[in-house]
Amino acid sequence: MYTIAEDNHKSLIDNLKTRGIIDDDDVYNTMLQVDRGRYIKENPYVDTPVYISHGVTISSPHMHALSLKRLMNVLKPGARAIDIGSGSGYLTVCMAIRTNVLENKNSFVIGLERVKDVVNFSLENIKRDKPELLNIENFKILHKNIYKVDEQEKKDLGLFDAIHVGASASELPDILVDLLAEGGKLIIPLEEGSTQVLYEITKKNGKIVKDRLFDVCFVTLKKN
Ligand code: SAH
Repeated sequence: MYTIAEDNHKSLIDNLKTRGIIDDDDVYNTMLQVDRGRYIKENPYVDTPVYISHGVTISSPHMHALSLKRLMNVLKPGARAIDIGSGSGYLTVCMAIRTNVLENKNSFVIGLERVKDVVNFSLENIKRDKPELLNIENFKILHKNIYKVDEQEKKDLGLFDAIHVGASASELPDILVDLLAEGGKLIIPLEEGSTQVLYEITKKNGKIVKDRLFDVCFVTLKKN
């Protein structure tokens, strides 16, 4: 038996484990270190998305867990990771913990967020939870629309082993294929008719391999 509404972070994560959603120690240990109560005030320990502002929500804990699980084999100390539509900053910080950005200077983690107020909201959250991340060069939250990254910015960003997109696109944006390193992995919800399907995309020998995972429900990746 488990209760649906938990009152602390460990219970939430243990609940995801009991339900079989977290079946991986690395996901468990990573999420345990990032207390959702520091990223959203309302019902942080309930497995549901929660409204932030500007039509934006923090994703549900089970969605964070499932996406992290998919990325675990490319999200290692020394890896370069980008969280597009970083929102609350929750998953971006999980990426930072998992790649150990604080101690491993080869690791690089960046969150990209279109709405300035939401960027500020995430920075407040990170200040509350892991302020040390805000003082290092290899962790950043950038105010930027992914569709508006120009050639120079693309070069400056470099290539990524792990790309997470927290909003759904009508088709796979070219920029994401360009940012993906050889052997890297990209997780993105793509719209199919009236539903959305989570895709895992890998680059192998320069070729893109698309794996269709399962139906999901995300906010839209905005073009403007
Ligand atoms: N993983 C985040 C999800 C936030 S919702 C979390 O759990 O908090 C998706 C986010 O994508 C929103 O904050 C939205 O503003 C942002 N977004 C939408 N379109 C975007 C775009 N084109 N470029 C960058 N961010 C975008």
